[in-house]
Parts: sequence; structure tokens; C-alpha cells
Amino acid sequence: MESKKVDSFSNWAGNIKFKPEGVYYPETEQEIVDLVNSANKSGKKMRLMGAKHSWSALIETDDYLVSLDKYNNLLEVNKEAKQVTVQSGIRLHELNEVLWQHGLSMSNLGTITEQSVAGAISTGTHGSGINFGNISTQVIGVTLVKASGEVIAINQKENTHLLPAVQISMGALGIISTITIQCEEAFYLKEESYPLSFDDAMEVLDEQLNTVEHFKMWWFAHAPKVQMYRWYRTKDKLKPRNKGVAFLEDKFLTNHFFGFLLKAGSAFPGLIPSINKFINLVHFKKINRVEESYNVFSIVLPPKHRECEYAIPVEHAKEAIVAYKQMIEEKKFKVNFVVEIRFVKGDDIWLSPSYKRDVCYIAAYQHNVRRWDEFLQCFEELMGQYDGRPHWGKEFKINPEVLKERYPMWNDFKDLMKKFDPKGVFQNVMTRHLFKN
Ligand SMILES: Cc1cc2nc3c(=O)[nH]c(=O)nc-3n(C[C@H](O)[C@H](O)[C@H](O)COP(=O)(O)OP(=O)(O)OC[C@H]3O[C@@H](n4cnc5c(N)ncnc54)[C@H](O)[C@@H]3O)c2cc1C
Repeated sequence: MESKKVDSFSNWAGNIKFKPEGVYYPETEQEIVDLVNSANKSGKKMRLMGAKHSWSALIETDDYLVSLDKYNNLLEVNKEAKQVTVQSGIRLHELNEVLWQHGLSMSNLGTITEQSVAGAISTGTHGSGINFGNISTQVIGVTLVKASGEVIAINQKENTHLLPAVQISMGALGIISTITIQCEEAFYLKEESYPLSFDDAMEVLDEQLNTVEHFKMWWFAHAPKVQMYRWYRTKDKLKPRNKGVAFLEDKFLTNHFFGFLLKAGSAFPGLIPSINKFINLVHFKKINRVEESYNVFSIVLPPKHRECEYAIPVEHAKEAIVAYKQMIEEKKFKVNFVVEIRFVKGDDIWLSPSYKRDVCYIAAYQHNVRRWDEFLQCFEELMGQYDGRPHWGKEFKINPEVLKERYPMWNDFKDLMKKFDPKGVFQNVMTRHLFKN
């Protein structure tokens, strides 16, 4: 098995830095089991990583850091049932293309597709659409390598009661080896997006939410308009973005020009309101197109920045968004990244921010990190007023005691963790902090 020694390691955003003893790249399930047995024997800990895109300290470890980048094959396609089984290191963008070739699509996706499927589901990665759950809800089965080295199947026939525990488990129950996903017939999405004033957007929020299949909003603080993203399944003919325009928007505008504006705003925060108004003017516009579902759901990777995101019950959405705007104005925060507002259907997954409730996800993203800690604290306090639950893959500082109150199945998850991993082989500083009591 390939392994590497590194002097230091960091997540994608660079806010988490650490030095693992080694980075390991198993290529088979047996090699994964061997690694677990070796960690057990030598009293080492281990953490898994996907694309290391999480902002929270989930991949941090002093011991074994394990990547499944070489364990990323498609294993089985059941066309009739529209189900696929994959090795869990496969990246979402790789999976999307393979699925399309087999006439299948994932029902919903987040904003980017760089993540590994295991990484995405382990933190509850989500897209938008009030009748669609997060990506973990599309998982109907996994095989799990436990701390003992035993491999168990968890699916609709075996160990079914464990499925809602493992669907979002932050690597704390074991290593997810294979994943079976319920897909649907490949579909195109029609996009009919447009900008509206902030007040008008709030006025029509409920109606849009209930009538548009996949609805989300982007707003730049200090700027007047909200982009209303509206996507529907369609049988209409493909009508993609012009290739030149797509190249310009994805490669030049998103990566270079937007990156330059973010850096300028972070260096001179006084410029941020004007920069945001400018971005508003050039980026928020009418869009009419029809493309492959995964091309509409996702965009290219944006420049590095910091993120926190909370899910609150959907009925508080409008009030909380308005209160958030007010907080930014009153505290004079200069926010130079998009405020993303999305909607997700409730589910039964124990550690899901949308456990037993339909939610609105509200984002606190920043490139300008001068007052990041204060911004984060105010944002988390505000979301707390609405019974908010944080996205596990993003930054948060909420007290675990409070989390315990907000998650009815918290103790059940903790008990299972202890049962599956009594010596804490899969634990790190973050999971020990979360589940200490
Ligand atoms: C630019 C950007 C855009 C994003 N957009 C969205 C979005 O639209 N919606 C959203 O909800 N989130 C979004 N995120 C957050 C992201 O989806 C999550 O942080 C996700 O977990 C990252 O996946 P990853 O493959 O990088 O996993 P990592 O960050 O590498 O790992 C995440 C967790 O998964 C665990 N893990 C990985 N593989 C396994 C395995 N085989 N078995 C057990 N545990 C495993 C790790 O131990 C860790 O706990 C975004 C992140 C970035 C950087």
C-alpha cells in the first residue's frame, strides 16, 4: 500500500494544520482492514479524508491519515432499481459522469462536486430543494469496517436499524468501505433564474420555495439584489450556456477576477460594500438554460475562504434572514462572500441537521477574516435563537451540551460509537470534544 510521510498537512481552506505520522492510500477493502488492525495493534488512532474540504477539524490526527483516493471504483449498477454501488473514495464529479453514461443521475447535489462520496455523506452535505433531502438520504446501504476489523453490511435488509446512524457519522463509527446510492433516471434541469430586490425576495420566498423544485438564493451583503436560483426537471431540449461564456465565467471570472476582488476587499474592508454592489451588477442576471442535472446543480471550485452554515426550521427562514441582515448592519461586519440560502427536506438520520424537520440553511461565508471569530459568534448566537444546528463540515464553536439538546438521538449515537469503537481508534480531538459527555 502506498504511504507518505509529510512534514505538515492542512485541509483545503488551510485553517486546520497538523502533522500525521503517515498518509495511507489503501486500494482494497482488505488493505483497509489491515490498516485498522495495525492501528489497533500499535495503539494508534486513524482518521479518514476525502477531498479534505471540510473546514471543521474532522480529518486532523497525529497518527494515521487515510485517503481512499485509490479505492474509487464503480462496483455495480442495477439499472432497473436505479441503484449503484461504489467504493467510497470515488469523487462526486467522477460518479456523476459514470452515472450519466448509465442513464442515471443523483437526485440532488451541493454547489461543488470535488468531494468524495464518503466525505460528502459523512458530514451531511446538501443541495437545495424543499422536497429533497441531503445527499446522505440518497444512501441506501454501506459496508463498514469497524474498529475490530470486522466488516458489516448496513442496508435495507441487514442491520437496517443502523442505517440512520451511519448515514452521517463523521468517520466516528468506522470506515465506510462501499456505498449504495438510490439514483433516478438521468434528467436535465431547466434553469430560470433572475435577480430581485432583497425585500421582494423575502416577499416571494414562501411561494418560490413551494413551487420551484430546486430553489436557492444568493445574496451579497451590502448590495441590493438577491439572485433567485430556480431549477426544474425538464424534458426540454438541451440549451447549454455558450461554451465561450461558460469558459469565461468559470475559469476567468470565478477563479481569477472574483478571487482578485475578494483579496482587494480583505485588504481594504472599506471597499467591500462597493465591490459587492459591483459583483451584484455583473453576476446577478437572468439565466435561461437547460443542461445535464449535475452541470446545473454545481459550479466550479471558488477561491479559498471560510464557512459556517446552520440549518433552522424552515418556518423561521424569512425572519432569520432579515435578522441576519440586520445583525451585519448593526455590528458593521464587512462580508465579502456570498450569503447562500438553501432548503432541505426533513429526514430520519440521527445526526442530520434536518432530523425530523424541513430546514432552511443559512450561510456565514467570509474571505475577509479580520473579525471572523466575532462574526462567527454573533452568527451562531443568532442561529441559536431559531434552534439552529451546524453543518458538521463547516466551522462552528457551539457548546456540545447545547448540541445534545438539539439532537434527540445524540446519546444513541454516542452509545453506538462506544460499542463499535471502545478504544476510540477512530476518534480525534474534535470528535472527543463533541461527544465527551
Ligand atoms: C468550496 C466548497 C463548497 C462546498 N459546498 C457545499 C455544499 O454545497 N453543500 C454542503 O452541504 N457542503 C458543502 N461543502 C462542504 C463539504 O461538502 C463537506 O465538508 C464534505 O464533508 C467534504 O467532503 P470531503 O470529501 O472533502 O471530506 P473530508 O472533508 O475530507 O472529510 C469529511 C469527513 O468525512 C469522513 N470520511 C471521509 N471518508 C470516509 C470514509 N470512507 N469512511 C468514514 N468516514 C469518512 C472524514 O473522516 C471526515 O470526518 C463545501 C466545501 C467546499 C470547500
